[in-house]
This record gives sequence, C-alpha cells and structure tokens, in this order.
Amino acid sequence: MIKKRELVIVGGGPAGMAAALAAYKYGIRDILLLERNRCLGGMLNQCIHTGFGLEYFNTILTGPEYADRFIDKVCKIDEIAVRTGAFVADLTCDKILTVMQEGRFERIKARSLIMATGCRERTREMVHVAGDRPAGVFSAGFAQQLINAEGLLPGRDAVIVGSGDIGMIMARRLVLEGMTVKGIVEVEGHSRGLVRNFVQCVKDFDIPLYFRHKVLAIKGRDRVEKVFLCKIDDRQREIPSTEFEISCDTVLFSVGLIPENELIEKAGVAMDRDTNTPDSTEAGRTSIAGVFVCGNCCKIYDLVDAVTRDSERVARICAEYLGYPV
Ligand SMILES: Cc1cc2nc3c(=O)[nH]c(=O)nc-3n(C[C@H](O)[C@H](O)[C@H](O)COP(=O)(O)OP(=O)(O)OC[C@H]3O[C@@H](n4cnc5c(N)ncnc54)[C@H](O)[C@@H]3O)c2cc1C
Repeated sequence: MIKKRELVIVGGGPAGMAAALAAYKYGIRDILLLERNRCLGGMLNQCIHTGFGLEYFNTILTGPEYADRFIDKVCKIDEIAVRTGAFVADLTCDKILTVMQEGRFERIKARSLIMATGCRERTREMVHVAGDRPAGVFSAGFAQQLINAEGLLPGRDAVIVGSGDIGMIMARRLVLEGMTVKGIVEVEGHSRGLVRNFVQCVKDFDIPLYFRHKVLAIKGRDRVEKVFLCKIDDRQREIPSTEFEISCDTVLFSVGLIPENELIEKAGVAMDRDTNTPDSTEAGRTSIAGVFVCGNCCKIYDLVDAVTRDSERVARICAEYLGYPV
C-alpha cells in the first residue's frame, strides 16, 4: 500500500530545512524531509568561509555553522521525519514520489510537496570552450567539495573562468591552500559577484582579473598544460591579434548555476525555458496545485538569508493551500 504524507519536502539544504520548520510553525504535523546526501545542510556543508547569516541571524557564520542552527532545530521536532540517503527518483503529476533508499524503492503520496532541490553548475561544454579533454578541468563547486570536504587539492597552478561569487571565493580558497591562481577570466567588463567578495577574495590576494577576455581553448595531453585567451569587444567578439597563453595545470569553471527542476518538469509543471524555473505568476507556486518550489531551484540567490526567508514564505503558502489557519 502506498504511504501518504501531509507534506513532503525534497532537499535538506537551507531552503528545505527552513520550509520544514516554518511548515511546523504553521501547524502542519506530518512532514517528511528527504535528502539524498548522508547529512542535511546542502551546499552550506562545503562553504567553510564566513559570510552567512548576517541578515537573518545578525551575525557572521560559516556555511556549516549556519546549517547547524537549522539542523539542530529540525532534528528535535518529532513531527518532522528526516530521511537522509533518500534520493527522489521520480515524481508524478498527482504528487506520488518514488524514493530510493538503501537499494530499495518506495512510493509515497504527498498531499502537498515543497521542492527544495537547489541547483547545479553550468559546465565547460555549455560555454563552448574548445581544445583538448585532459584531466584538471573542474567545475568550481566540485573543486570546492574536493578541497573543503574531501581534503584533496585539484592541482598547483589554476586559471578560473568566471568572476561571480563562487569563482572569486574559490580563487581565495586555492591561494590559501597553497595553489597559485594565474588569473580569473571574465567575458564581462565587471564582476557579477558581491563587492565584498571582489575586495576580500581577489584584490586582497592580488589575483589577476582579465575582464573582457575569454578562454579560446584548453590544451594538454593527459593533464591541462595551458589555456589560450584573447581580448573580446563588448559584443563578446574576438579582437584580432590579442591571443596569448597562460600555463597552468588546472582550470575551474564558474560560469553560472541552473535550478535543478527536472523532477517537477517531468511531473508536468509548466516551465520557463530561459530560467529552468516554474512558469508562475507568484514565486514559489507551480502550475500543479499543491506543488511548490523554494530556494535555489526557485531562483538563484546570492545570499542564504534570502533563501531562508523566501522558503518560510513558501511554507506559509503551502499551509494555506492545505487549509491551516496562518
Ligand atoms: C561556492 C558558494 C559560495 C557561497 N557563498 C555564500 C555566502 O558567502 N553567503 C551566502 O549567504 N550564501 C552563499 N552561497 C549561497 C548558498 O550556499 C545557497 O544560496 C544555498 O545553499 C541554497 O540553498 P538551497 O537549499 O536552495 O540549495 P542547496 O544548498 O543546494 O540544497 C539542495 C539540497 O537538495 C538535495 N537534493 C537535490 N535533488 C534531490 C533529490 N532528487 N532527492 C533528494 N535530495 C535532493 C541536495 O542534495 C541538496 O542537499 C554560496 C554558494 C556557493 C555554491
């Protein structure tokens, strides 16, 4: 027989945890929180730098410290059943989830569903960088996980593609771990990241930042040996005779994030193709009644404090949908 739940939340990052706590506050008592990883916390677990919580807690925390504040609360509430190592593999339009855990599949019917599945990184292929396919090319988030969670260095001399927050934070991280960052390459004329990250992660460490440049090709037989760069104009066209090379053994791509919404798309939620988020007039709602989204799968946030606040708001909309007085 298929198990039924009042509210199922998919994703145990800051969004999913904030939604679970707020849903409990609004009176929902049968909450199931599903997380595919071994522990709750999502992206925050690998963000060991400070910069979290200034707006929500009025203090500066590391990612794991921020996550711990929610994990402690979530785990103390009996009515929030937490299952880690639980991967949601399928979702239907009538809110039936297929969950894989410890090699077994289980189906659960949710009366309401909040998706908090986060986002994934754009890849080298998506920004069309030509050249060889040697070892030493990573996404910035994966390199962050290697260093901060696994204790592994990705290489010695790095070039970083993209000057958003993740690219800049990783530049500083690599330097602090003893690597050399030969440059950050950015197609725009300015960084899209926070000013504080530009100052604290790039300027303070004298890392060369190549604005209006692009990586033409990556070269290397087994391991990355160099990258070819050129200057570009404001329409991102190559400026002739500006090509030069930088020798390096590592290239990190930090070229944007894509909301992770394949499950709801498969279930039939109407999607905005440009943003890969639900096509909805009110943030958090979807075209399927009772299915909501929050956190980075709803929109890509700069700061986790805003993720938390918006996820609490989505939990409120969900409680309203279920008929709880809010
Ligand atoms: C490098 C980096 C630096 C950052 N620095 C800062 C900073 O300084 N300050 C700040 O405020 N914010 C920062 N952020 C942003 C912050 O980390 C994110 O905004 C926040 O983690 C997003 O929360 P989320 O819950 O939406 O997503 P996530 O944290 O990604 O959580 C999503 C969760 O869903 C789970 N999941 C996905 N699919 C499934 C499935 N099918 N089944 C089960 N579980 C699933 C994932 O395993 C994950 O645990 C940074 C982010 C990065 C990547």
